[in-house]
Amino acid sequence: MVEKSYLVQRFAKLSLGLHHVIGYSVAGEETVVQIPELNVCFDIGRCPHFALTSDYLCISHGHMDHLAGLPYYLSQRYFQGMKPGTVFLPAELERPVDQLLRCWRDVERQGTPYKLIPMRPGQLYEIRRDFGIRAVATHHGGPSLGYVLINIREKLKADYAGIPGPELVAMKKRGIEIQYRLEVPMVAYLGDTTLGPVFDEPDVQNAEILLTEVTFFDADHRTKAKLGRHMHLEQFVQLAPKLKNKEIVLIHVTRRTGIGRARRALLKRLGEERMKNIHILMDFENAREEGAVEDAGPPPGDTAE
Ligand SMILES: [Zn+2]
Ligand SMILES: [Zn+2]
Repeated sequence: MVEKSYLVQRFAKLSLGLHHVIGYSVAGEETVVQIPELNVCFDIGRCPHFALTSDYLCISHGHMDHLAGLPYYLSQRYFQGMKPGTVFLPAELERPVDQLLRCWRDVERQGTPYKLIPMRPGQLYEIRRDFGIRAVATHHGGPSLGYVLINIREKLKADYAGIPGPELVAMKKRGIEIQYRLEVPMVAYLGDTTLGPVFDEPDVQNAEILLTEVTFFDADHRTKAKLGRHMHLEQFVQLAPKLKNKEIVLIHVTRRTGIGRARRALLKRLGEERMKNIHILMDFENAREEGAVEDAGPPPGDTAE
């Protein structure tokens, strides 16, 4: 048992299959989740050092605990000679966030570059031929989106299996469609959301890793969950049977409940078998590499302050 300290911020690091999930998420305080292998960070409540290394940043909604680190992320990357960050965000937020960043340019007297990509539900943005980010509508009151990281593959149609390579190339040249497109959802991140149609999206149900919130657990927090459009344990219990994800990571647990009690409540309602692939991001008792991720950031720039 590590002693609690408010001087050192501890980050979580989960190793799940091919990917790591690094981050910190406490309701109302800060949410930031990084998938280093995919060069993507989701939300940036504050900007811990490790978040600077992600070239792509997906913002779920405008609440301060998910967004306030954005100007710092962009400014630090510029300071340190990294390329401008690319920021995906709900289309409704493009204008106000752009204004915010322009203000920061004046305040800081630095021409920090940035690239905002406004997203709408269902839209797929292809970063590379084999990798894209799809936005899904979430349910949190204002404009809010979740994001699915998609591996895009070209597969040979079954009809053409067994045909030698050179022949296939020749067929392709003649304009025959020998391939089909396969999209594999690797990671789905939903930010803040209550129960709703987003959980019927095939990408969300089938993503290898699903990151979703469960903020409230106690019976007398049901009203809070409803008002804030957050997920309550009762709703997650309803939802759990239809999730086919290999791994599920729960984020945004309120400090009012605490991780230990949240874990025990989940176990009691879902049972040991179902809990085998459900993790709580901030459950440090089960995270093996927690705390060691600050080294993962870029070297400090000598002019940076
Ligand atoms: Zn939040
Ligand atoms: Zn929120």
